This record gives sequence, structure tokens and C-alpha cells, in this order.
Amino acid sequence: MTDNIRYDDGDFLNAQISNPNDNPISDEYTANATWGRMLQGNARFACGGAEHPRQDKQTRESLIDGQHPDAAVLSCSDSRVPPEILFDQGLGDMFTVRTAGQILDDAVIGSLEYAVTNLGVSLLVVLGHEHCGAIGGVVAQLDIIADNAGIDLGAACAAEVTDSAIIDPVTLNENSGDSDADDVFDIMNDLVAASDSILVRSAGASILAAREARLCGTDDFERVHIARTIEALVNRSDILQQGLASQRLTIVGARYLLTTGEIEVLSF
Ligand SMILES: [Zn+2]
Repeated sequence: MTDNIRYDDGDFLNAQISNPNDNPISDEYTANATWGRMLQGNARFACGGAEHPRQDKQTRESLIDGQHPDAAVLSCSDSRVPPEILFDQGLGDMFTVRTAGQILDDAVIGSLEYAVTNLGVSLLVVLGHEHCGAIGGVVAQLDIIADNAGIDLGAACAAEVTDSAIIDPVTLNENSGDSDADDVFDIMNDLVAASDSILVRSAGASILAAREARLCGTDDFERVHIARTIEALVNRSDILQQGLASQRLTIVGARYLLTTGEIEVLSF
């Protein structure tokens, strides 16, 4: 599914399959409408005008016998980024799964598959955020791993880029063009893969992919991690693959900006 993910100019990726000629137009329409509603809610929240919709007694009672959320959201567990608040949504609107650094495991994937299969959500949002402590912690862990291995990650990251490599975390290994740096990243990827920490294995691989693309700032680490999380989700889940292929599901990536309260849209 990697053809559906692109990372151009550091601020855009697309994990959406779009074929308006296919039949489940209503699902695609629903996904667009849902995402638009969520972004409108975020605009209200960011400017201090949150309406806190559908959080009243009547809404609660209307949902006693079932839920029909339009969106699933996989986000970081960070206490500053609760999706329902920053999208100004209400009860029954969003099915949320949250882990530190929005990393994946079987429970996360199974929960999202449940949202798609049993609840019929047409939109899946993978939401990272600015100043992610989980990402920052893994950056520090990578520095320790590199130091212990006698590797200067900063120098590898700063290595001169040969020709105009396309910045694409999926295919970057083929484009980096620097064999010494490639060796360093091969070693680092092996060390990260052998870590006891699932956070280091997951976010660490994303950070290394970003560094290998000479994207060496925390903002880019966070963006690349969102892109790679979407890629991993699709690769690991037949249900999500089938949802995308049949136009019943749209996946978008986004990053919440703590400094402004706004959502940086990375896909869709
Ligand atoms: Zn975080």
C-alpha cells in the first residue's frame, strides 16, 4: 500500500485511495463530511469558541442502546490532546484509541478493525501532535543507543544530500545516496529493532527514517511517524486494506499543534 503514501516538501502525505467512479460514494461522502465537521470543530476550539456539542442528557440517553460513530481516531495518550475536546465533538461521534506516540500493537489494530467492521466508520484519523513527549523520549533513547555503538547520529543526519532526492520515508533508503550514512542507519535500524521497548522499536524506526531523509527536526520526526504509522496500519491489517480498496474507508494523517490549538492536515 506504500504507493498511497507520499511525503513531499516536508508537509504533505496522502494515504487516501480516491476513485469517485466506484460505488460506495455515500461512504466517501460521509468521510469527507465527517472530516469537515471535525475540522470545523477544531477551528471553534482553537479560537476559544468550542460549543461542546452532543454532551447533554438527551444525547447520552439517545446512545444507551447503541453507537454509530462516523470516525475512528488513533491518537497519542498525551493529556493535552484529547481528540473529543480538540475537535469539539460529542458523545457517540468518535471511536478513539490512544497510546503513547500513537504506536501500534495487536490490541490497537484489533480495536480499529472493530470500528471499521462492526461500527462502520468510514474515516480513520491517525493523529500525532507537536511536542510529543513520547517521540522526544525516543529521540533521547536513540542518542544513547548511538553513543553506545560509537555512532554519531547527528553527523549521519547532516551528511550532504546527493542530487535531488525525493523525500519519501517509504522509499528513502534507495534515494539517500550516501553509503557511509546508509551503513550507519543499517546498524541503527538493527539496534532499534532489537530494543526491549515497543516505543523505541516503533517511533525509533520512524525517527531513523526521518533522519535518513535528512529531516532532523522534531516536527518532522512527528510527521514522518504519522506517515509510517498509517503505512504500518495498512500493511498489518487486511480489514483496513479491504476498506481502502473498496472505498468504504478513508485514512488521513494529522498533527495537532499545541501552540495554536489547530490541526495540521497531513493527508486527505
Ligand atoms: Zn505524544
